[in-house]
Order: sequence, then C-alpha cells, then structure tokens
Amino acid sequence: MSDGNFLGRRKGLLLVVSGPAGSGKGTVMKLLMQDPDSFALSVSATTRAPGKNEVDGREYFFVSRERFEEMIAKKELLEYTDYLGNYYGTPRAPAEAVLGTGRHLLLEIDVDGGRQIKAAFPEAVLVMIVPPGAAEQERRLRTRARDSEESILRRLERAKAELTEAEHYDYVIVNETGEAEKTADVFRAIVAAEMASVRRIPDLKERYYAN
Ligand code: 5GP
Repeated sequence: MSDGNFLGRRKGLLLVVSGPAGSGKGTVMKLLMQDPDSFALSVSATTRAPGKNEVDGREYFFVSRERFEEMIAKKELLEYTDYLGNYYGTPRAPAEAVLGTGRHLLLEIDVDGGRQIKAAFPEAVLVMIVPPGAAEQERRLRTRARDSEESILRRLERAKAELTEAEHYDYVIVNETGEAEKTADVFRAIVAAEMASVRRIPDLKERYYAN
C-alpha cells in the first residue's frame, strides 16, 4: 500500500464494522476482501456452534468455553463480549501483525466490542452498516436460514440495542437490498477520506521536505 508520493508508506486504519443481524455486513466484507493488498479481515474466536457453511479458521475460530476463558486470562484478545449467551472475541496477535503491514484491518464485531476498541484505540474508525428497515431486516434473517426461530427473535430484539449505539459510531451506511457493491464503494470512500485526513498526517511538512 505504498502511496507513491512523499507521504510514502503509512499505517493502515483500524476499522470497526458493526451492524444488526441481517445488515448484510458479511457480504460487504467479502467484497472488500477482493482486494487483499488493501484489507485484512480479523477472524474472531467464538464459543457459538458453527453454521452449516462455516469453516473453522475461516469465519471464526470455534473454541470451547474453557479455551475462550483461557484466552481472556492470558490477555490473548483485543476485546471480547458475550453476545446472546456466547463469547466472541478478537485475537490480539494476528491483528497486531496486520497493522504493522500498512493494510487496513477490518474488525466485524458488535457494538460492545466497538466501544472497547474505541477506548483502547481512539484513532479507530467505527462504521455501522444497517438494513434499510426493520421489516426488510426480518425478511433477510428468515431467508438466510442459518438461525433458529428463537435465535432470530433474539437477534431482532438485540438489533434495537445495536441501533441505539449508532450515535457513538463515526459513520453509518444503509445497505440497500441487492446493493452490497454500492455499500462497499461508500465504505472505500470513507477509508480514502480518513487516509486523507490531516489529523492522520501530523508530520506532513517533514515528510514533504525529507525527499
Ligand atoms: P454471528 O453469530 O451472527 O456470527 O455474530 C453475532 C455478533 O457477534 C455479530 O454482531 C458479530 O459482528 C459479533 N462478533 C463477531 N465476532 C466478534 C468479536 O470478536 N467481538 C465482538 N465484540 N463481537 C463479535
């Protein structure tokens, strides 16, 4: 990710991506990951059971509660939370490795995790991706057929709490149905704007004259 000018190689962004169940954020992340030179997606650890098409080490590291609690005790997680009765957390070592490379690190985590990341890393950028409305959200959850009826109802309820947290986020994008590409475009625009922010280039003049 060399800028090819006097700004040279710079640190990537720490990007938190949250959104209620059915927001389609997973699809948007897949689109961003078509450019692996620019983006890396953190793989979380979780104690929830794998879904039908999920692979250990790809969507998540699926671990036991004992192992997860060991990760907490050994401070192996950047943040973690209890989401509807299961633990979810961001492994520290791979995240730190990515940030050293200049790529942008995507953390697809809930609002509780977002709050923890912002407290520990004030320079993090928090983006919320939301469905176009409650009815469409419910339709999406029912058609993806991953969750049980009980889980769907709990996720819909939980969505209300997630939306309350939107005000603590830096950006919100409405992911219209069938428009994930457009959402990914807006996301890339946010990344470009953040990288152009003078707040992130305190040494602009020094860099300019160092050539
Ligand atoms: P799901 O069970 O649908 O895969 O994930 C449930 C929720 O947990 C989603 O909002 C997802 O973004 C969030 N989540 C996934 N990984 C993590 C993590 O490492 N930390 C936190 N705080 N939330 C996570």
